[in-house]
Amino acid sequence: MKGKHVTIIGGGPAGMQAASQLSELGIEVLLIEKDNKLGGKLNQWDRLFPDQTPSMTLLKELQNAIEKSKVTIRLNTEVQKISNLTHGFDILLNAEETQHSDAVLLTTGFELFDARLKEEYGYGTYPNVITSSDLEKLFREGQPLTTAEGRTPSKIAFLHCVGSRDEKVGQFHCSRVCCITGVKQAIEVKQALPECEVYNFYMDMRMFGAGYEELYREAQEKWGITFIRGRISEAALNQENRIQIKAEDTLAGRPVRLSVDLLVLLVGMTASPCNKALAATSGAELRSNGFFNPVDPFNHSVESAIPGLYFAGTCTAPRNIGETLMEAGSAALKIHKFLLQND
Ligand SMILES: Cc1cc2nc3c(=O)[nH]c(=O)nc-3n(C[C@H](O)[C@H](O)[C@H](O)COP(=O)(O)OP(=O)(O)OC[C@H]3O[C@@H](n4cnc5c(N)ncnc54)[C@H](O)[C@@H]3O)c2cc1C
Ligand code: SF4
Repeated sequence: MKGKHVTIIGGGPAGMQAASQLSELGIEVLLIEKDNKLGGKLNQWDRLFPDQTPSMTLLKELQNAIEKSKVTIRLNTEVQKISNLTHGFDILLNAEETQHSDAVLLTTGFELFDARLKEEYGYGTYPNVITSSDLEKLFREGQPLTTAEGRTPSKIAFLHCVGSRDEKVGQFHCSRVCCITGVKQAIEVKQALPECEVYNFYMDMRMFGAGYEELYREAQEKWGITFIRGRISEAALNQENRIQIKAEDTLAGRPVRLSVDLLVLLVGMTASPCNKALAATSGAELRSNGFFNPVDPFNHSVESAIPGLYFAGTCTAPRNIGETLMEAGSAALKIHKFLLQND
């Protein structure tokens, strides 16, 4: 593998995992991250589902592997152009600098849905309407769970599928991680405030992963969290300065009116905006929702149709961290094989 070079674009969990594994296989690796630190969304979460592992524990593990490897890291660099050459790729680092590589791995991840686009929920207007990401920030910073006015909440509602499975905002896909995030965060609220009533409004509960269904049962049986099948149609401020929500319980077939101290919007995953430019310049294919489209979802789920150009993690579709890390390992092995065949 001497002299072979791979550039990885995106230093989240997928990029970090693939970088250290490729380096262990004797390949020269450049890991590029647009932020000023590695870790991607791990820097934004507190305790991870399904088992409440602190995100920092996992981040340290990934960082240790990188530190032991010979990976070259470049921070504060956003890649917007990849030229696909007859032999390898030229990756534009800035106006004057280009990196030549034999293979490229795209690990550009996802962006959180902008909850302001769902105006009916009042995010950005009512300070007591927050997102799941805002709640993670409160937990991570060890701040007390209070309303914007400093009151201890007695009722909190979570709303599932915000910016996912929603034709109105052009996001048809299920983001896969927000149901379990809603269950995990509802339990965390009860752990912090046992007296607080917690309600989750959902369309369907998608508990596909190991331990998820068990956590959902625990949320109901041990923590007394109420799950209501129905979408909130509107959130408004009432005279007591609380959030008045209107919904329909579609199982019971009756309207629900509830005033809560905090409304938490479980925001979904959208495609990274840089994917368009990267696809246009490299020839990689995009799905209609802006995520990259691999050759197939089976044996070639980390491969593009361009020889030497690979994907891993949430740049192709919503995934949890376990799935992301597995894909990154798989992409590293595929790239290794590709480089051996083209030696
Ligand atoms: C609210 C919420 C909570 C979650 N909690 C959990 C949890 O508890 N447990 C779990 O298993 N999963 C959880 N997830 C899912 C988890 O966040 C993802 O599985 C994981 O972050 C995917 O890693 P990634 O490397 O694919 O993407 P990201 O974490 O998005 O990393 C991508 C990186 O690429 C960088 N980048 C993007 N474009 C460029 C570019 N052009 N040039 C250079 N750098 C670039 C970004 O800055 C970022 O650092 C959660 C998701 C959400 C939305
Ligand atoms: S995981 Fe649950 S909350 Fe998220 S989009 Fe899918 S159904 Fe909706």
